[in-house]
Amino acid sequence: MNIDIIPVTAFQQNCSIIWNDEKQAAIIDPGGDAPKLIKRIEELDLNLQAILLTHGHLDHVGAATKLKEHFGVEIIGPNSLDKYWFDALPQQSRQFGLFEVEAFEPDRWLDTESEILKIAGFEFEILHLPGHTPGHIGFIEHQQKIAFTGDVLFKQGIGRTDFPGGSYDDLIQSIKQKMYQLPDDILVLAGHGLHTTIGYEKENNPFVK
Ligand SMILES: [Zn+2]
Repeated sequence: MNIDIIPVTAFQQNCSIIWNDEKQAAIIDPGGDAPKLIKRIEELDLNLQAILLTHGHLDHVGAATKLKEHFGVEIIGPNSLDKYWFDALPQQSRQFGLFEVEAFEPDRWLDTESEILKIAGFEFEILHLPGHTPGHIGFIEHQQKIAFTGDVLFKQGIGRTDFPGGSYDDLIQSIKQKMYQLPDDILVLAGHGLHTTIGYEKENNPFVK
């Protein structure tokens, strides 16, 4: 898997463009800066196949509609329990003082636990990881040993749970019961900050005991 991580918006959210050797590609959590992302995908001469979203927060979804219009591909995920965040995108825009984003809905919600999503030659296991938001999901590529898990687990940190619909107990359960059951050598690409591994967090994360 080839990966290009591009921080977007004032929140420096890690948007990932991934592709295989045939240049089949997907983009995960395009939170903003659509022109920059479009330029990068075209520079790399990639064949974009889907837009994948981990959860409905503005800094993860803000450029999704523009990319969909430009490339003519579907927006897939998260779990439909995050619908209220998509409905509230205009309010999120005002609240965070970012660019105005209209409400939209993904073309496909991912509500089936452990469903396998085949995109761009990769196979992602979908894990429901509620807590930061109720409909937060993770995209786990077991063969490539890589997990795109948004704002659930950070390097020596965890996602915020003080937004409407957040739950600290759910977040800790998502990490312990699901993420920490993954192999130690799975690389975790988080929505903000540095990447980490499951094994490193089990040893060093001060928030999950
Ligand atoms: Zn978030």
